[in-house]
Amino acid sequence: MIVERGSLTIKTTRRFEVIDVTQDVGSWVESLGVGDGLLLAYVPHTTAAIVVNEGEPRLMEDIIQFLRDLTKPGAQWKHNMIDVNAHAHLGNIILGDSRVIPVTGGKLSLGTWQRLLFIEMDGPRERTLQLVFIGQ
Ligand code: ZN
Repeated sequence: MIVERGSLTIKTTRRFEVIDVTQDVGSWVESLGVGDGLLLAYVPHTTAAIVVNEGEPRLMEDIIQFLRDLTKPGAQWKHNMIDVNAHAHLGNIILGDSRVIPVTGGKLSLGTWQRLLFIEMDGPRERTLQLVFIGQ
């Protein structure tokens, strides 16, 4: 068994943003020259998230609208008295901070329409996406 670690730096430019990182993550996995295993994509932040879904541009706008409706930025959240980003913490709780994707033959094993989407909810910021491959 082998374990490989890496990371991507993601510079977000807006408060809410959906960024398709499939290409960058896939290239990192392929550069390892590995076989089969699992890829963990982990966001070490409390106000961003990582999901797997379709990267269709209008859907990516819908995701942002959905999160705004659900988490209500600017509402009377108690955390907003010290740090005006309670909505982003709540969004992180709903979406989660990691995804595990099978790696088959050295490549991400995603479905036809599946993309790995980084979700910014309190940008703009410089973010990190940690990558861990476990397999053979
Ligand atoms: Zn906060």
